[in-house]
Amino acid sequence: MKIAVLMVLFLVQLSTQASNYKPKRDTLFGYPIGQPYYPRPHDVHYPSHAAEKAYNAHPDVYVPTSPGYEPDADRYAYAPGYQNYHQAGQPSAAGIPVFFPSSSGPDVPPPFPARAKPRYPSPNNIINFRAYSTVEQIDAYLDYISDQYPDITDVKTIGYSGEGRPIRMVRIHPRTVRRNSNKPKILVDAGIHAREWIAPAVALYMIQQLVENNDDHRNITEQLEWHIIPLLNPDGYAYSMTTDRMWRKNRSNTTNPYCSGVDLNRNFDLFFGGLGTSSDPCDETYTGKVPFSEPEARALRDYATSLSNVRLYLTLHSFGQFFLYPWGFGDVLPRDWRDLDKLGRVAQKALERVRGTKYRVGSSTNLLGAAAGGSDDWMKGRAGIKYSYTVELPGGGEKGFDLPASQILAVSQETWEALKTMGYFILEERRRHRKRRNPQAGKRLDDI
Ligand SMILES: [Zn+2]
Repeated sequence: MKIAVLMVLFLVQLSTQASNYKPKRDTLFGYPIGQPYYPRPHDVHYPSHAAEKAYNAHPDVYVPTSPGYEPDADRYAYAPGYQNYHQAGQPSAAGIPVFFPSSSGPDVPPPFPARAKPRYPSPNNIINFRAYSTVEQIDAYLDYISDQYPDITDVKTIGYSGEGRPIRMVRIHPRTVRRNSNKPKILVDAGIHAREWIAPAVALYMIQQLVENNDDHRNITEQLEWHIIPLLNPDGYAYSMTTDRMWRKNRSNTTNPYCSGVDLNRNFDLFFGGLGTSSDPCDETYTGKVPFSEPEARALRDYATSLSNVRLYLTLHSFGQFFLYPWGFGDVLPRDWRDLDKLGRVAQKALERVRGTKYRVGSSTNLLGAAAGGSDDWMKGRAGIKYSYTVELPGGGEKGFDLPASQILAVSQETWEALKTMGYFILEERRRHRKRRNPQAGKRLDDI
């Protein structure tokens, strides 16, 4: 009897030890990273509009919504380099968050020698984060960084708006780093809806941090490429500044001479004209006559499809404080929705740390209701970008969209923390993938 008890104890001991010696799973922030790292194929197949029914039914693309799922958000740790901001984001005695990324040290020890050439911050009269910038100021700022930082930036015009304004994109990636078209990319746009002024402001802040403060963000600019379109709908934006503060759409002519403008975020070709859209040109959610009828939407589509290996797409909107992932066209979720949910919560945590602002994370249909034909759905469903999010920035003012200019800096800073953390997540995913494929890889940081 005694021997039997001892045997049992011995076996229990053995099994505990065995479980202790299990190889550790590949995890990030406590969650397994099991996703294959696949570049977007150049010959990505675009199903025809008629094929969408079959597409919807495809078992690899959709799974039914699981409303009971509530991940344990507290298990998320911080991204590398995050610790500095925890203190930096604390409110001062006056209650104003003291938070200047440039003064709180680099994200991670920079592996490269410091830049020899001194840099000067952009003059305040080009952009500052105390007032909303006009189209002309945004253009002037892009000219400024293209002129002053030619070794880090490429400023390109990716198309023209209906009224002929250039739609400009800044690619941020140092030229000194070995070129590799398969480098992971992050594509960001803002200002698709004209009145959501805080969105272009945050995009400009991102550009300023990545470019003018590049020494603090070397890892995420050398090993990733950022492609930022700060103002996708310049016509609508200009109109909202001069004529109608609550203008949302672009300014194109429609079939109704009394109502102009198409909702660019309903003009994309995935379930075009589906739920949450309107075929009436007088409505705020007018889809346009056909998918991609609008030059602004085409410019974004064409630019996105010209890039390979875009891992993360962010479209900045206001208002509501959400990180939304697909699908927006209906109450279904992508097969890999848990991955999107995870990264959304990583971003949410990073943002909340700065000054306590609360965001919610979920599919756009589940949190805001269906809205088909949006750019986020298209980027995931058609362009094959795994991580695709609509970021709904905070509201304020009288109607929500007219957030007071005094909030620009604080909102930009907290959002930047979240978006930067997403960059680190993509970087880490890349590193882990390469390590799995080839244990020698990742030794030279500039070789990734
Ligand atoms: Zn919007």
